[in-house]
Amino acid sequence: MDLGLKGRRAVVTGGSKGIGRAIARAFAREGADVVLVARSPAEVEEAADAIEAEFGTRALSVAADVATSEGCEAVIGASAEAGGADILINNAGTGSNETILDAADEKWLAYWNLHVMAAVRLGRGLAPQMQGRGGGTILNNASICAVQPLWYEPIYNTTKAALMMLSKCMATEFVPMGIRVNTVNPGLIRTPDWEKTARELAGSEWENYLQSVADEHAPIRRFGSVEELADVFVFLASDRASYCVGGTYFVDGGMLRTV
Ligand code: NDP
Repeated sequence: MDLGLKGRRAVVTGGSKGIGRAIARAFAREGADVVLVARSPAEVEEAADAIEAEFGTRALSVAADVATSEGCEAVIGASAEAGGADILINNAGTGSNETILDAADEKWLAYWNLHVMAAVRLGRGLAPQMQGRGGGTILNNASICAVQPLWYEPIYNTTKAALMMLSKCMATEFVPMGIRVNTVNPGLIRTPDWEKTARELAGSEWENYLQSVADEHAPIRRFGSVEELADVFVFLASDRASYCVGGTYFVDGGMLRTV
């Protein structure tokens, strides 16, 4: 299936590793240029260089903290300089671990900035670029936890639920501009971050630990790979998904327990 992504430009936040890097690779494989964003300059540069070498498309790196307005401005500026964005993937994010009784306001606000305000600021800043190029697509990577919480991470659950609502509102506001906005809710996706957590919790038994997590939560009894998830993002960002607007797409191996 030709996804028609050749020559498009996709901005991917959190593009240096894990899911974001796989999404950027999948866009590059389809012939799209990519703009990778992450805080660590060395890591994001390495990821962009590797993608450019592997696929021969243009891959830019922007070292920026998207939880700040300055960081988002840097991304918007770099994208404009490159010629403008057609696609925005709001993917940068991370899990949490706290109780509501103990968590300080600062922690709530940090996650609000990372999971919600980054999408507000980047959506607001990049939408005019997309419109100027004839339309575009925004995908917000929330989580199954936005609707089916894991109880140890109330801040993560709450801010990802807010991202889903933002996505819905943005979809309605932006569709007259020719910009489609949707949410993707992944379940258990195997990333370096999960492997690190498993090593910390279970030492040499970390692989068994990951299997036990999959057995407990996902009827398919395994984690998804970043590539399996990236393919869904790329399809939804393409014109082949042209009637998908304001939706939420679960990629979770059956983990969602409701219809
Ligand atoms: P990783 O920790 O593997 O990667 C996170 C990426 O985001 C890195 O590139 C990191 O680079 C970047 N990043 C983090 N904070 C910022 C910031 N403030 N500004 C810019 N970049 C940032 O995460 P995953 O790939 O596992 O997760 C990606 C997204 O998918 C997250 O939003 C997560 O909530 C969501 N998700 C993941 C699931 C999973 O099972 N893995 C399941 C459901 C949702 P750097 O540190 O250098 O900034």
